[in-house]
Amino acid sequence: MLQKAQVTTRFAPSPSGPLHVGHLLAALQARRLADAHGGRCLLRVEDIDQRAQHPEYLELMYEDLRWLNLHFDGEVMVQTQRFGVYEQTLETLRRMGVLYPCFCTRSEIKAQVAEMGRAPHATLGYLYPGTCRRLPADAVEEKLAAGLPHSWRLDMQRVQDLIGCPTWHDMRRGTQRCVPAAYGDVVLARKDFPASYHLSVVVDDAAQGVTHVTRGADLFDATHIHRALQGVLGLPVPLYCHHALLRDNAGKRLAKRDGARSIASLREAGFSPEQVLASLHEALQRGGVWWV
Ligand code: GLU
Repeated sequence: MLQKAQVTTRFAPSPSGPLHVGHLLAALQARRLADAHGGRCLLRVEDIDQRAQHPEYLELMYEDLRWLNLHFDGEVMVQTQRFGVYEQTLETLRRMGVLYPCFCTRSEIKAQVAEMGRAPHATLGYLYPGTCRRLPADAVEEKLAAGLPHSWRLDMQRVQDLIGCPTWHDMRRGTQRCVPAAYGDVVLARKDFPASYHLSVVVDDAAQGVTHVTRGADLFDATHIHRALQGVLGLPVPLYCHHALLRDNAGKRLAKRDGARSIASLREAGFSPEQVLASLHEALQRGGVWWV
């Protein structure tokens, strides 16, 4: 049995477009799981990718949440205010010897993967084959001294040597085993992008004391990467629930580009919050999405 005060969930939208009904589903999953156990549901603004953010979407998000009468507990965490914390974590990983600079461009990586006869991973894209991991130390020094653009990658084989293959638990799919080296050496930072989603989400879930992560099934594979990072950083491991995604009539997953399903457009079309919630409920009944 879960103990009441133990449950902390979160809704963590990236305000790179208007909130849509898929976001509403994610928010409700988190809110209801917390409420079912007398716990807390926190709000975190995942605005780390500043190339994709627009301040007007953040304002609109707060307006939509108010209109929907969705409330969150405690203070809102905003990722762009936390670059210092992410940099400290990167430094910790550097000192542990599990982070290395990578000078490959996107098209070079694509070509390397194709040459190895591999297809891109279904949800994680081109898994980096570790080319720069094998660079001699003096070549690395030379490239860094020359100011060549680079990213910082997590050496997953070394992570695996340190922590082995740990498990994590999905509330719908059961216990999962993470094999760190199977996911390629992921990027944790770049010059124009000081912390990746993988890094910030793991650091922030721990900082906010999140015990239960509810999010869309599209992030299921990413959770293996998050588990590896939690292992190497010695962070607590939340329980996960990856819920099914809303789809349109053609079976295609709803996405931000489907502006017609944005909360703002439904509001402007004259729907009430209750009607929007009822439609979502009906959609879930049709799609058999898991509820608390
Ligand atoms: N920020 C992500 C999104 O808007 C969600 C990340 C997560 O829940 O871990 O899709």
